[in-house]
Amino acid sequence: MSPQHGASSPGRRERPFAGEVRKRTSSAEGRGRPSAADGQERPSRAGERERRSPGQDRERGAAGRDRERAGRDRTGRQAGTDRPAGGHRPARGSQDHRPPGDGRAASPGHTASRHRRALQDRADLRADCADCFALCCVALPFARSADFAADKPAGRPCSNLQQDFRCGIHARLRDKGYPGCTVFDCFGAGQKVSQITFGGVDWRRAPKTARSMFEVFPVMRQLHELLRYLTEALGLAPARPLHKPLRKALAHIDGLTRGSAESIMELDVNALRGEVNALLLRASELARAQVPGRGRNHRGADLMGAKLSGADLRGASLRGALLVAADLTGADLRDADLIGADLRDADLRGADLTGALFLTQAQLNAARGDAATVLPPTLSRPAHW
Ligand code: SF4
Repeated sequence: MSPQHGASSPGRRERPFAGEVRKRTSSAEGRGRPSAADGQERPSRAGERERRSPGQDRERGAAGRDRERAGRDRTGRQAGTDRPAGGHRPARGSQDHRPPGDGRAASPGHTASRHRRALQDRADLRADCADCFALCCVALPFARSADFAADKPAGRPCSNLQQDFRCGIHARLRDKGYPGCTVFDCFGAGQKVSQITFGGVDWRRAPKTARSMFEVFPVMRQLHELLRYLTEALGLAPARPLHKPLRKALAHIDGLTRGSAESIMELDVNALRGEVNALLLRASELARAQVPGRGRNHRGADLMGAKLSGADLRGASLRGALLVAADLTGADLRDADLIGADLRDADLRGADLTGALFLTQAQLNAARGDAATVLPPTLSRPAHW
């Protein structure tokens, strides 16, 4: 998705935190490309909005809640796992996991098992569309572009959204001109807003609260994104000296996400992001310091279309780097910090991303790759690769 929403309202320009690949939209929508990890927003490009495909096979509508009985959520995943259970959502679906290590040298930045546990234990940081009222399909705007076949203002349901909050074209999103919907991730913000902030009462049943719900969602998404990165940082063994402040920040933000709609909308998300980013930067430096040799610094670099085939980028800082359509085939990206890197259409075939820091599924979904691309164990191989 990521809808380039305002920090506190759909009408405001979103100032995304690091580590996102946003859905492309038109600049007219005021959507910018993902900001660099250091929080600097770049000029608006063909908008983006990274998002998981929403609304899909929700096995529960406003009332129906029999997905648990089926043991699967509406994404087709087996409940409580990341494993695909039947051909849904490209964003999370059919991917295979390589075993940690994958026969290659261990990644010094991560203790693989801890890394996996840290993120996998936080199911609440993964989108669960079955418990969400399709907020990303309603609250967020998008503009007709290569990623969206039509314009949609914030707060209006997408024309493909069904009454039961499922997407009517879920299985054909790319074919129907909505690839942007396949690369969005709310990091679990959707179900938090739907079920906790608004107590499970959806915007169709309670139209008076709809606007508030739609305004809270993009803020919550940013908070959950911070939680996601903090959780990953806590899984980095070399970042142990920072575990206390990382845990403190995690608890603080987690508490904020459980506040009222009003309190969430009043938050200064940019300030929070800045505080968290300082910690993440230090964690990254500690992790990458373990890498033999000195990783290159390409922080915020414009590497659009760069020929980096086979490049040694192990332990490099690629924070916020513009890597759109870059040729990274066979590149060594082990332990590289990719927070906020724009990987749209980047060619990752044969690249090694073992131990890559702060890499998200949405970033992968926006890139190209193949069976030879080595992924961190917490991420899955996109179905379209
Ligand atoms: S096409 Fe519309 S309903 Fe379907 S996933 Fe995208 S925004 Fe949601």
